Amino acid sequence: MRLAVLSGKGGTGKTTVAVNLALSWAPYRITTYVDYDVEEPNGFIFLRPQIQSSSTVFLPYPKINGACTLCGKCSEACQYHALAVVGGQVLVFPELCHGCGTCGIVCPVDAVDEVKRSLGQIDVGERDGVQCLQGVLKEGESLAGPVIRELRHLEKKHISQVEEVIVADCPPGSSCSVIHSAEDSDLALLVTEPTLFGLHDLKIAVRLMREMGLDFGVIQNKDDGGTLIREYCTQEGITLLGSIPFDLEIARIYSRGQSLMNEPKWADLFKTLGERIVTEVNLRKTRGERA
Ligand code: SF4
Ligand code: SF4
Repeated sequence: MRLAVLSGKGGTGKTTVAVNLALSWAPYRITTYVDYDVEEPNGFIFLRPQIQSSSTVFLPYPKINGACTLCGKCSEACQYHALAVVGGQVLVFPELCHGCGTCGIVCPVDAVDEVKRSLGQIDVGERDGVQCLQGVLKEGESLAGPVIRELRHLEKKHISQVEEVIVADCPPGSSCSVIHSAEDSDLALLVTEPTLFGLHDLKIAVRLMREMGLDFGVIQNKDDGGTLIREYCTQEGITLLGSIPFDLEIARIYSRGQSLMNEPKWADLFKTLGERIVTEVNLRKTRGERA
């Protein structure tokens, strides 16, 4: 069972939900938490896993050799403007290069060599039975895609059994990174908060899920008892999977970088939420098989 935890914007409690759900399932199911929010991964702050391995994610970029005739074909072919023929040389801008290899293919004289630069890293660890994976994009880098692709690849390698639970903590927003980290999930959990901004961003996330054809439900964080999110879900026929109350104790635990599972009240809340989610996934599977 793969669950994608998403939010239309940052700061809604997406990671709180993802981390605590993973911890609540771990005693009963093989559970893996994967932090795809590579620009700002903070799940490990709360999980504090024992790191077992780290690997660097590299991206290739071109290095022009002496065979170059300055024909300009490579710079014309590069859709990312990472090459320019200027002043009798080919300038390479590695930070713009997406590593697509087109320049090497179009060069008529084999003047494009490939070198690599480090883009980020992937860490693997374990905490209380939760396998933990995270991608970290290097500071100053903007290309999250290759790190996310590598992480997806590693996630697939880690899945040992079909009944395993994968909790994918996706980046906020609605970018390509969100799509790549959420696709092929059994259910997307859209985490929102009961404010007009929260509702606005929830609507964007809902639109994205519908375009992707992904099953989804909503989890309301900082629930103040208001009707804003409930009414929207009812109007749109969206399942409200559960709510986490607005509570200062949660904020205090969060600010200390701790998980909520140490407090029985919150541990029970996440256990119930987890059971509700498993029921929902099974229900949707049964409906899908019948259809
Ligand atoms: S590898 Fe692709 S993106 Fe990079 S410089 Fe060559 S054509 Fe441009
Ligand atoms: S296509 Fe090859 S030969 Fe032409 S400018 Fe680029 S590197 Fe030089």
